[in-house]
Amino acid sequence: METITRHVASCAQSAHFHRLAQALDAPQVIQTAVAIQQIPAPTFDEGRRANYVRDRFIAAGLRDVGSDALHNTVGRWPGADPARPALLVSAHTDTVFPAGTDLTVREESGRLCGPGLGDNSLGVAALLTLAELFAAHDIHPPADIWLAANSREEGLGNLDGIRAVWNALGARLGAAIVVEGMALGRVYHAGIAVRRLHIACHASGGHSWLHFGQPSAVHGLIDLGARILALTPPNEPRTTYNIGLIHGGHSVNSLACEAELYLDLRSEDPACLQALERAVREHIASAGQTPQLTFTTTVVGDRPAGHIDPTHPLVQMAGAALELARIPAFYERGSTDANALLANGLPTVTVGVTRGAHSHRQDEYIETAPIASGLWQLALLVLSAAEWDFRPGAAGG
Ligand SMILES: [Zn+2]
Repeated sequence: METITRHVASCAQSAHFHRLAQALDAPQVIQTAVAIQQIPAPTFDEGRRANYVRDRFIAAGLRDVGSDALHNTVGRWPGADPARPALLVSAHTDTVFPAGTDLTVREESGRLCGPGLGDNSLGVAALLTLAELFAAHDIHPPADIWLAANSREEGLGNLDGIRAVWNALGARLGAAIVVEGMALGRVYHAGIAVRRLHIACHASGGHSWLHFGQPSAVHGLIDLGARILALTPPNEPRTTYNIGLIHGGHSVNSLACEAELYLDLRSEDPACLQALERAVREHIASAGQTPQLTFTTTVVGDRPAGHIDPTHPLVQMAGAALELARIPAFYERGSTDANALLANGLPTVTVGVTRGAHSHRQDEYIETAPIASGLWQLALLVLSAAEWDFRPGAAGG
């Protein structure tokens, strides 16, 4: 632990980090974040953002810049020692906001409001800034740094973007840092397991008056929903459910033929998650299923769990970088792109750039004052990790 603190402190004092830190320009990064935020990028439709990032990666002088069919864009900043496993730094480009969302940005007393600005345009802007600063100051730590602006983190993306990045680069990687714009001060070192179910209810339907008492898909689904809400998952390990979307029926005076809901289940413990899903499925099986009323269940999301210990060098580095930036560190579990990397055994932390609130809402905002120190700690963490040897049995920094 001492060793890690010393390593990060010596990186912070190095001449090349000084040059980089001097050039960090928070207002310019905010400008980049807004430029990215103005490009609509609903999950599965991130192509225009991917192109924007690709152009800037190329302009910065990254090598092996490319985009794939899932709208992931990657680029490599070459390290000094080809034998070292590479460091991946990623930020997701997609947003929860559908096409046509009003993306106007407003400034009010130290806050910048705009849908998707903190989650995750600012993260992507930080990624671009790091690429440009490492290149402009010709800083080549031992490890290659792969930068990835990846798709499909939100909604029903199921982490398919970062999974594809892992499939393409995994064999070369020694560690990863995931950037989430609004997570400043948090060090996520464990991924929460998530399962998402689409549950559809089907009935033969009919007239609300003439066929009263016969099965309705809406009534069947409401009945099931009430049974799910009566479940009491454990607080410890924290286990949760959420019915996030519900649709059904076709007119006010008809027995519904179709109704559907999306259910999000999470737990710190995969066994508790399995138990919760089993309980839901038992309710589905017993929720008045008859030939006239049936349910179909589809798994539409499956985020694996994975973690590294808080004593892992990468977690310690993230904590040390925050401490040097005088930002209190909180060590947490979460559900981010890191899940997919941790589940594959890659040491990964998720860290932030600033504070903010109301993510996934139209009135999402970020605080502008912490961005300068947020960028500083991120740059220091990336440099410290790229200078550390994560190979088992290696001497480290
Ligand atoms: Zn995010």
